[in-house]
Amino acid sequence: MRVGVIIVAGGRGQRLGGPVPKQLLDVGGRSILQRSVLAFDDHETVSELVVVLPRDLVAFGPSLVGATTKPCNYVVGGERRQDSVQAGLSALSSSVDTVLIHDAARPFVSDAVIDRVVEATRRTGAVVPATRVRDTVKRVAAGGTYVAETIPRDDVWLAQTPQGFRRPIIDAAVQLGATGVEATDEAMLVERVGHRVEVVPGDERNMKITTAEDLMAARAMFASVPRVGTGYDLHRLVEHRPLVLAGVPIPFDRGPDGHSDGDVVCHALCDALFGAAAAGDIGQHFSNTDPRWKDAPGLDLLARTVAIVGQLGWRPASVDLTVILERPKLGPHVPAIRSALAEILRLDQGQVGMKAKTNEGVDATGRGEAIAAHAVAVLIVGESE
Ligand code: MG
Repeated sequence: MRVGVIIVAGGRGQRLGGPVPKQLLDVGGRSILQRSVLAFDDHETVSELVVVLPRDLVAFGPSLVGATTKPCNYVVGGERRQDSVQAGLSALSSSVDTVLIHDAARPFVSDAVIDRVVEATRRTGAVVPATRVRDTVKRVAAGGTYVAETIPRDDVWLAQTPQGFRRPIIDAAVQLGATGVEATDEAMLVERVGHRVEVVPGDERNMKITTAEDLMAARAMFASVPRVGTGYDLHRLVEHRPLVLAGVPIPFDRGPDGHSDGDVVCHALCDALFGAAAAGDIGQHFSNTDPRWKDAPGLDLLARTVAIVGQLGWRPASVDLTVILERPKLGPHVPAIRSALAEILRLDQGQVGMKAKTNEGVDATGRGEAIAAHAVAVLIVGESE
């Protein structure tokens, strides 16, 4: 048995709208088309692939799909679905005796569904995977206002793809299709040539992406877990420098030394954000040898950091800080610092934690020679609002 797969992506998905053809929309970092093709390319029983594309896309097929391990042909689709399938059949090797036909708009087809379809096709020659309906099913009279009847739910199944056929059966069925019958799936044509079509269990996850809601549901399957980063900063305290944390001036006779303004709160947070995005650290982005960042306000660097991680597709969901300073007491300034950070991070104050500690007189920080801060940041998918 030699299994060939026809992936039908001949339409432009008008229902989803937009300038990008539906099959090229991204779901979890890969296009819908790519996912559909690679699902079969990865399957061990499949020998070759044919992808049916609209005329203006067919030349780009190999670059849109990327490398495949199996032979893959790209052909131009036709006016009707069965015309596209016909084009696909013509591009299969003559040695292919078992044909699977799959909607490109179903990118989540599982190995288990493919296995069931291949195995059943071997036995019965024509197979459709399908799922049961959970809702009560009504037939509505023409005009769409009143229920004509309630159809017994157990009799109703929802057809999916890939549908599997022995080659002579699908060849004959598509011939029939060519004579004027309009089919919405291949099984329908096979039924018309009088061949029994076996139903095997499909899979609820093998959804067809047709509407904007479908696309959102598909993308939600790839919503990633939050990302967490930590940051740390320390600056010596010296005379004749102002002590400013997150733009809040703190009256004191000394302040942090440094190329920038030495705002440990903002610097630790920048590193936490870069860390969560796996995007390097503050020194790489704002080098302390670059004159641009001489005395740069910490809040300015923080705002730039939020923009950089935003370009990578992340936005802050919450942060937490511990600032270690022996003197003066930071407690009275914490609300103002949290408020300033919340504004730059585009968070509510309830998402910005801050604790002020002393080091109990121990080590350089404890002797008042330095100020230090530890930060944790959580990033989630999405650009900042
Ligand atoms: Mg620093």
